[in-house]
Amino acid sequence: MDYYSSHISKLIEQLSKLPGVGAKTAQRLAFHILNMPKEQVEQLASSIVGAKENVRYCKQCFTLTDKELCPICSNPKRDPKIIMVVENTRDLAAYEKTGKYEGVYHVLHGAISPMLGIGPDEIKLKELMQRLQGDVEEVIIATNSSLEGETTAMYISKLIKPSGIKVTRIASGVPVGGDLEYIDEVTLLRALEGRTEL
Ligand code: ZN
Repeated sequence: MDYYSSHISKLIEQLSKLPGVGAKTAQRLAFHILNMPKEQVEQLASSIVGAKENVRYCKQCFTLTDKELCPICSNPKRDPKIIMVVENTRDLAAYEKTGKYEGVYHVLHGAISPMLGIGPDEIKLKELMQRLQGDVEEVIIATNSSLEGETTAMYISKLIKPSGIKVTRIASGVPVGGDLEYIDEVTLLRALEGRTEL
């Protein structure tokens, strides 16, 4: 891209590293940014840096938050004895949108995938097992219904079973391979209510 100044090329290159942004979109975004008022560009840049600097994992459930404990873990109305295991913070957000779940969460930040070389140690599984040392009645496994999600669910259930804690899996009805965040609230609620013991 020698026909652009190196600053423009660099901006396009950085933008094109974002998911779902191809070369053409990156170019369009870059020119859009260049046409924005300087103040707005500064706000955009500082909110990106600010989010990155201040967002961290909740020390209990590992969702992304800006406090030591996320608002869900620190809410006394939530039941800490019920833990729903999800793959990522977006899935947690999807369940929160239903407004009907009263337990807490555990965010794995991924799923086991032998094909991609992601083993149990690469996700927040040890951390889950540590939480189970406390007073826990049920673990609801709400990983995706993809191959990775199912593999992870089986693995976790085998790991937890000997402890005597009830392990359930959300009902299938969630489309195979479907990311939880794209599923509507009614379907999610149905999947949650129809969960079965593993
Ligand atoms: Zn939390």
